[in-house]
Amino acid sequence: MLRVAIMGLGSYGTRVAEAMQTCKKAKLVGVISGTPSKVKAWQAKYNIPEKNCYNYETYDQIKNNPDIDAVYIITPNALHKEAAIRVAKAGKHVISEKPMSVTARDGQEMVDACKAAKVRLLVGYRMHFEPHTLEIIRLRKAGELGKILFSRGCRASPSATRRKWRLNRQLAGGGSMMDIGIYSINGSRYMIGEDPIWVTAQETKTNHEKFKDGVDETIQFQMGYPGGAVASCLSTYSMNNLDRFFLNGTSGFAELLPATGYGPIRGRTNRGELDQPITTHQTVQMDEMSGIILEGKQPVVPVDGEEAVKDLKIIDGIYESIRTGKRVDLHL
Ligand code: NAD
Repeated sequence: MLRVAIMGLGSYGTRVAEAMQTCKKAKLVGVISGTPSKVKAWQAKYNIPEKNCYNYETYDQIKNNPDIDAVYIITPNALHKEAAIRVAKAGKHVISEKPMSVTARDGQEMVDACKAAKVRLLVGYRMHFEPHTLEIIRLRKAGELGKILFSRGCRASPSATRRKWRLNRQLAGGGSMMDIGIYSINGSRYMIGEDPIWVTAQETKTNHEKFKDGVDETIQFQMGYPGGAVASCLSTYSMNNLDRFFLNGTSGFAELLPATGYGPIRGRTNRGELDQPITTHQTVQMDEMSGIILEGKQPVVPVDGEEAVKDLKIIDGIYESIRTGKRVDLHL
């Protein structure tokens, strides 16, 4: 059993906690929160002992707690870095929500800190364990789609901005790109099976009042891959019912619709519907992460810090392309 403490008892933390109740190899055993009333409620609901409860001032003491193996950081994006470094220094494995951090440089610091502390750093990329997603990767690897030449990832999440920190550049590190654009970034990487070598991006904003400077509302971006494929993607806080992924090669296509929401995920190829099992993503993710950390299992698509730094390098490139109006070469 991987014994996990969740840091940040907000909307997604609550979803992960619920999903963990049916895990076979991971267990919620602790919490880190700045809100005592939430801690009390979680203690009662999940049977968490007082000695496994911390706040943001006290959690370095987790180093003296032999009953916690890992901390799952589920706080606003820009806070992941400091938390990860403190957790690593306390000798515990780190699971960070996506985006791992808000710049590639910060992400690399997290990777280095975890390496120095000899703890694992994984990122909450739940789609990396989703059965329809993995089936398309299998088909592409088996050559069923031929040579891949095009992919498209589009994702919108207007309701996400109900959490005010997502409109605050200091805490969010950007806007829709950080939050949901990242699904199309790593999605096209694992679907195509290569790392991109260039990116171009364009930003459009219809609501300057809501989306202040540095907080993107909508970004369209394109990534070029060494084998000749191009991914054309869109990330937005303003549209609705937009969550799809598409991959096309010289012999066929594969599509996910919806693609990266909480499910049920649906997919099809030129041969017909996919009928992979419907899963609770966070349950599978936590069981698989337990396998990675405790048993040295290798996932089909990596979920480690190095993998996440690549996504952050692409996001850095996207913002640079918007700033300069130029194509940005990537060195992942
Ligand atoms: P949320 O606002 O619902 O929860 C954030 C939590 O962090 C709250 O409990 C809040 O009290 C706490 N917090 C600590 N310090 C804070 C501060 N200075 N300002 C604001 N809140 C602070 O947000 P969320 O939707 O749960 O998102 C949290 C993280 O989870 C983000 O990084 C987000 O990208 C990620 N997330 C991932 C998925 C996924 O599917 N993998 C889905 C949703 C969110």
